[in-house]
Amino acid sequence: MKKWQEILKDSITSPTALNEYFNVNITSLEEVIATFPMRINPYYLKLIQKIGDPFWKQAVPDVAELHDPVCIEDPLAEENLSPVPHLVHKYPDRVLFLVSNQCAMYCRFCTRKRKVGTGKMVINQESIQAGLDYIRHHPQVREVLLSGGDPLLLPDSQIEFILRELRSIPSVKVIRIGTRVPCTLPMRITPELVAVLKKYHPLYINTHFNHPAEITPEASAACTLLADAGIPMGCQTVLLKGVNDNPETMRELLLKLLEIRVKPYYLFQTDLTRGTNHFRTPTATGIRIMRSLIGHISGLAVPTFALDGPGGKGKIPLTPDYILSRGDKLVFENYRGEICTYPESGDGI
Ligand SMILES: *Cc1c(COP(=O)(O)O)cnc(C)c1O
Ligand code: SF4
Repeated sequence: MKKWQEILKDSITSPTALNEYFNVNITSLEEVIATFPMRINPYYLKLIQKIGDPFWKQAVPDVAELHDPVCIEDPLAEENLSPVPHLVHKYPDRVLFLVSNQCAMYCRFCTRKRKVGTGKMVINQESIQAGLDYIRHHPQVREVLLSGGDPLLLPDSQIEFILRELRSIPSVKVIRIGTRVPCTLPMRITPELVAVLKKYHPLYINTHFNHPAEITPEASAACTLLADAGIPMGCQTVLLKGVNDNPETMRELLLKLLEIRVKPYYLFQTDLTRGTNHFRTPTATGIRIMRSLIGHISGLAVPTFALDGPGGKGKIPLTPDYILSRGDKLVFENYRGEICTYPESGDGI
């Protein structure tokens, strides 16, 4: 069996190479990738059945990326919220620490597409040290979220170095890794990697699947290895036009995730990232999908539909409104649309 490093090396990074599999407009794709790089590894390439399908949309550049009239470079103001480069301190008790600029695939809708996979994102031993020092000197940080890029594209030894350093800081209670490799390059989840990860509990992994057909036997095996190592797994799905923006696809995805022991955590409204406007849906689409899920399927499978406030204002839940009126009685609709009432307690009034 090929090693994950070799599979990754065989990735398609130019339109000419892609043209061997699918008929594409080489010139216009070259224009796109001059700004936003492409990387489609052989594993994910196999998921693409035809031009324009949900896997194609996630992986293959689109000229629309260069003609985005609405969105901005850094919608979450991450650069302004970085006390040291590549460390975002937005919430009081947790930081986002970007430790890799590489991914197993460059998702076309990526929130950090302004820098991921490009020369603009320089991560080296110095930036890692600066991040670790910041965390060491800010004991209010009880949780560190490793992200990127994809932290699990680093060599095992570098991952272990970062985890060991973090664990040497007593104020850091929880480590969370954000990674898409269980979905985009599941062979990266090797027994050796898992043996490293399990030494640094409590360690959580939030992965990222967007479509039920991404849950292949390989992806399932990767998640089994992680779950068997006692790593609680969550999923951060992005709501994407033409990929998963309907109740049937979303429901199938969420239920399948539960079967591979991955708990749906967030469903994200698309950020206002330049080059991704063609993926955006109205917020009403997500709210309608949430209404089709809540009560109808296991609560374990229901994520929080969240909007990350532009300008770094933080995430808020977008929830269907079940409440019809408030007063002595709360009047609300249930998941079936039946009207219900609940008498308020008189206490404290
Ligand atoms: C999303 C995010 C977090 C984590 O938020 P949770 O609600 O705990 O998942 C932390 N820091 C930054 C900068 C974020 O964008
Ligand atoms: S894996 Fe995540 S960070 Fe990497 S390109 Fe995809 S969305 Fe962006």
